[in-house]
Amino acid sequence: MEINNQQIETMVTEFVTKSKELGLKVTPQRTAIYKELAKTDQHPSTEMIYKNIKDYFPNISLTTVYRTLETFEKHGLISVVNQLYNAARYDANLTPHHHIVCVECKKIEDIYDSSVNYTKIDNKIQDYEVVGYSVLFNGICSSCSDK
Ligand SMILES: [Zn+2]
Ligand SMILES: [Zn+2]
Repeated sequence: MEINNQQIETMVTEFVTKSKELGLKVTPQRTAIYKELAKTDQHPSTEMIYKNIKDYFPNISLTTVYRTLETFEKHGLISVVNQLYNAARYDANLTPHHHIVCVECKKIEDIYDSSVNYTKIDNKIQDYEVVGYSVLFNGICSSCSDK
């Protein structure tokens, strides 16, 4: 799915507003890191974002990108898809949706299939109050299965 510039700008504006509400510093670096995530639906890892962000901020360290993403995640500005092979993959799209991971090439795609609709999930499971859920499917994508 193509994300257009208008959508990206809207997401960045909301990000800045939410950050300020949360009392987080809004720096050009932070905004650039967020934007890098907002403009893709590839669910990039820290390393992927770092590689792109270095074009604008050559002196930025991988640790800074890592910590920034952690801070965003902790405050609910972005989400973590999963801890796949020790590399967290991030998502700026906070609309409820599910994911499918290719077990071969590690590509992660969004799933908006309405059959994947677990509205029957209770507010309470065991002794937990459920605050959210997501489903992660594992599969083999068409380009990998063609090999
Ligand atoms: Zn694949
Ligand atoms: Zn996603």
